[in-house]
Amino acid sequence: MNWISNYVRPKINSLFSRREVPENLWTKCPECGTMLFHRELKDNLNVCTSCDHHMPVTPRERFADLFDGGIFTEVAVPEPVQDPLHFRDQKKYPDRMKAAQKATGEKEAMLVAEGEMGRTPIVAAAQDFTFMGGSMGMYVGNAIIAAAERAVELKRPLILFSAAGGARMQEGILSLMQMPRTTVAVEMLREAGLPYIVVLTHPTTGGVTASYAMLGDIHIAEPNALICFAGPRVIEQTIREKLPEGFQRAEYLLDHGMLDRVTDRRKMREELVTITRMLLGLPPAVMGELPSPSDAELIPADVPAEAKAPAEPAPKADEAKKANKAR
Ligand SMILES: [Zn+2]
Repeated sequence: MNWISNYVRPKINSLFSRREVPENLWTKCPECGTMLFHRELKDNLNVCTSCDHHMPVTPRERFADLFDGGIFTEVAVPEPVQDPLHFRDQKKYPDRMKAAQKATGEKEAMLVAEGEMGRTPIVAAAQDFTFMGGSMGMYVGNAIIAAAERAVELKRPLILFSAAGGARMQEGILSLMQMPRTTVAVEMLREAGLPYIVVLTHPTTGGVTASYAMLGDIHIAEPNALICFAGPRVIEQTIREKLPEGFQRAEYLLDHGMLDRVTDRRKMREELVTITRMLLGLPPAVMGELPSPSDAELIPADVPAEAKAPAEPAPKADEAKKANKAR
């Protein structure tokens, strides 16, 4: 019977499951329960259209929106040693990694890219919460250092989008070592006089909050993002007191001077362009797309003026001359 359960059944299942309607056409907003059509949600940058709840965004989606025309080049990140501690809980660490890679289609929890944002050249890094909780391991440390080095090399500002559950416990102390390492990376930007802007997204916690996520020149958070070192549940259990409403949420932290701005994701790009250009001493960005070059502009300059002019307006010019002579 083994061949039936191991070979025949998976075959039949795969034949039938292919014909099923994909389940991900609709997404339920976890905050207000509204059913949102996937295309509408994507157009709205994964923000609920009825209650403005900000749902998670992958680094790739974020970069597609951030960079002009969605065009960016990935910055290579040096590979760290794989599973140095041979860590195992219920699963082996390499198995967890493989599962996360398969689920997200990404190599690791951080993506680094360079490109232009509002015609302003930048380097950007974004953390992926769907990849093992965006946990900061050696790779994430390497990614931030690679991003900072690239920014210094190109003399560009660095914009970092944080989202993390903290350090990656599977790498033990080596993950904690990323806190001083990334601090040094931020210091490199400071010494080069380059802006470092952090966009804190839900949730940014643990060792990430205790290092590079809180060392920016400007801190912008997405609405209602949880930003903390120790989570509210842990604090509540420790001090045995009820915490105020909205504790450690973006708006609360803004009120208490921990953040500079809380900005809706749909306005984030525009705000980042404005702030980056201000910090770089550049003139304000050109709003709106430039018109595409017309046919007349595509004709080389050495062609005589008559050839450049379109056929129709010529009689009008003659008429104008006649009119001038008549006067
Ligand atoms: Zn909603």
